[in-house]
Amino acid sequence: MTKRALFDAALAATKDWHAALPQAAAFCDWPTDLAYTERAPHMLSAANRIQTTPGTPNSASAPLLAALQALAPHLEWRHTYSADEVGHHFLDHFGWFELAGPTGHFVTRRTRITVGYWGAGLHYGRHHHTAEELYTVVAGHGTFHLDGAPDLNLLPGDTRFHASDQPHALTTTDSPILTLVFWRGDGLADPPRLTLEETAP
Ligand code: ZN
Repeated sequence: MTKRALFDAALAATKDWHAALPQAAAFCDWPTDLAYTERAPHMLSAANRIQTTPGTPNSASAPLLAALQALAPHLEWRHTYSADEVGHHFLDHFGWFELAGPTGHFVTRRTRITVGYWGAGLHYGRHHHTAEELYTVVAGHGTFHLDGAPDLNLLPGDTRFHASDQPHALTTTDSPILTLVFWRGDGLADPPRLTLEETAP
């Protein structure tokens, strides 16, 4: 397959995933303004890790996982955070990319669809952002922390909603986790920010 065909296949698998998950379909409409854009690949160790140790999918998420793995060498992988903020070990086992959104491989102004990977045994500390968010788990599992709510261990097909500026965090134990995340509302192009402890309630 050509690179463009791989992107189209991954977008089609993502559209199927969005349509099949009631929480995702209710969270946002599938964007109708998607425009493929050439973006230079940017490799991080996460690109290899989602191919070698992605975590276990379920039967519904296996096609999406395969489509995302095929894209791995062509993606503009990002970290957002610095080693000063999260440490070198975290950065070596973490990466994300914007499949669709204001600065995505497919440009849209309606939503932002990102894919995030965390290796086993990581803690992604409390962070927040203006846009509302729906996490969906594609492979592996992890514990999602949300201010004012019980922790949830999420498996493939599970989802969690984060309201605007509601701090949340993620811990992985014995498995990596691969997530596909939808954003809506204001601040679609903004990065998440770590929530400083002195601002905690
Ligand atoms: Zn978030």
